[in-house]
Amino acid sequence: MKIWLSSPHMGGGELKYIHEAFDQNWIAPLGPNVDNFERDLAQYTGVGHAAALSSGTAAIHLALILLGVERGDEVLCQSFTFSATANPIVYQGATPVFIDSESHTWNMDPDLLQEAIEDRLKAGRKPKACIVVHLYGMPAQIMRIREICDAYNIPLIEDAAEALGSSINGQRLGSFGQFGILSFNGNKIITTSGGGALLSEDGDAIAKARFYSTQSRDPAPHYQHSEIGYNYRMSNIAAGIGRGQMEVLDEWVALRRKNFEFYSSEIQLDWQREPEGYFSNRWLSCALFNTYENREVVRLALAARDIESRPLWKPMHLQPVFASSLHYVNGVSEDLFNRGLCFPSGSNLAADDLFRVQDIVLRTLQAGA
Ligand SMILES: *Cc1c(COP(=O)(O)O)cnc(C)c1O
Repeated sequence: MKIWLSSPHMGGGELKYIHEAFDQNWIAPLGPNVDNFERDLAQYTGVGHAAALSSGTAAIHLALILLGVERGDEVLCQSFTFSATANPIVYQGATPVFIDSESHTWNMDPDLLQEAIEDRLKAGRKPKACIVVHLYGMPAQIMRIREICDAYNIPLIEDAAEALGSSINGQRLGSFGQFGILSFNGNKIITTSGGGALLSEDGDAIAKARFYSTQSRDPAPHYQHSEIGYNYRMSNIAAGIGRGQMEVLDEWVALRRKNFEFYSSEIQLDWQREPEGYFSNRWLSCALFNTYENREVVRLALAARDIESRPLWKPMHLQPVFASSLHYVNGVSEDLFNRGLCFPSGSNLAADDLFRVQDIVLRTLQAGA
């Protein structure tokens, strides 16, 4: 039986909400599940308002639109991330400016951020926004990053796509920036089969996001449009899955954290650390090997036994598509990419699955990897 990196894990309540949608014929990108899922998300994250959308990527795109990012603008963006963080900058005709990571949380380096802002200001180019990411569920140094952005009056977008359920001193991620974004893709901590959300204290901005996400229809009996619209709303069926998943979210977080505790106590590697006061949902259990070669030997040994593992994200400043982008780097994310591995981390893994992974990794390491 194949062991996946992170596969969907239903809790049971999802089908009830889907049946309700069928019974009431709310098979559309609106309906009671959408409204209730938004309410659940706002309540859980402690953010005033949430808009349920078709993807996390759509949520980032709408956040940039709401912040007025346009052709020719520059947007600061964490380099160590999935491409979906950066792509919407390009959708807007703007240019990403990539910032490397620090080695404590693996997320955006606040010192480098400050340096980049100063440098861009000297060039007469004030960044229009900043996107920070909480990778693998680990909180970034968001307090310092927010202080720096505030000092320069640069709006902050928090990409919490991987970090629903994570917090700092009890405050949930997604609630620190002007906008927070979540993803409910199939491999995330909870899923709606595909979906995302935009979070904000600004109720008008979230109302506007709902307007943009449903083709920007002006109030009129006919179809009338004063602005460009998008088809980015979440369906009432997907939101039904989301409502069921919210009921088990904390349980799934606990299970993912248990996976991490098992791996990190049984396998001697440099595991991603959780600073004091930080709480990671441990979406993926990640560790660094001594060398790229050791990492590859283990990854291939796992693959040969039908176990999916994956190198850490390849930084955006090293991606062919962003080769010409401005970047402020210190070598941290490149090193993480070279030596890091994500272990199978699903909340639905059995104890036997974890033992199988442990056995192969330990035997491969002992054999000289
Ligand atoms: C998954 C992910 C996204 C995009 O979410 P989708 O719902 O797949 O569009 C954005 N940023 C990060 C860091 C992600 O992991």
